Amino acid sequence: MTERVKQSARGGAAILLDTVRFDYGDMAMLFDFTIEPSSVAAIIGPSGAGKSTVLNLIAGFETPLSGKILIDGDDITGVAPSQRPVSMVFQENNLFAHLDVVANVGLGRKPNLRLTQADRAAVNDAIAKVGLAGKEQRKPAALSGGERQRVAIARALVRNRPVLLLDEAFASLGPALRHEMLDLVGQLQNDTGMTIVMVTHHPEDALRLPSTLFFLENGRVAASGPARELLSDKSPSLLRKYLGSQDLSV
Ligand code: ADP
Repeated sequence: MTERVKQSARGGAAILLDTVRFDYGDMAMLFDFTIEPSSVAAIIGPSGAGKSTVLNLIAGFETPLSGKILIDGDDITGVAPSQRPVSMVFQENNLFAHLDVVANVGLGRKPNLRLTQADRAAVNDAIAKVGLAGKEQRKPAALSGGERQRVAIARALVRNRPVLLLDEAFASLGPALRHEMLDLVGQLQNDTGMTIVMVTHHPEDALRLPSTLFFLENGRVAASGPARELLSDKSPSLLRKYLGSQDLSV
């Protein structure tokens, strides 16, 4: 068999940032790292370190000055965001206020909302998976913050892409709800095998799910490895300085 079996057929896809250079004019950023297929990557670091930029480069909202981005072995550096095998969930502004849950989720499937029977089944399945069965007809205003993020996740799920990017998706939620959402993401990751890249201001989020930590500083990865090791007593000193004031139990 000569045809390579794509990892995405089984769930997640590897993400490679190969000597990716980027800047907005002030800080030169350089990203050169791999995220393993079907893993959870937690990206942490001080404000302005380049965390969101990494997600925007992977999603295609920004273009590298040089270098390549590969997903599942394919060079997607010049591919339009909508054509990339990724979905992204932001902290807010994910939903349309005038549309109910079904329509907001359905948009992930068909932007014109002309849903087939199969699309509707996928939408209902995703709504059930994120725990919103019975709330299909509600508009965003009639949902809690946590429920709204569940809708955003369901919309990402129906896109059926092997990579899910979370840009501080749960930052506006209190600790209990945030943990609940992380558990949901972990469960979905187990079910689908998708590769998850999450930017978070809370290092302890990386401990809630078995994840690989990428600590960013000044536009590059300053430390990476299993979160359980990097966030233990044996943290490298540069990371310990950042973690200093952070309470890992929250
Ligand atoms: P983080 O997510 O770690 O807080 P960002 O990736 O948002 O960091 O930003 C990295 C750097 O790029 C920062 O210096 C920030 O001010 C700058 N930056 C981010 N977005 C823009 C933009 N749209 N235009 C100009 N500079 C930006």
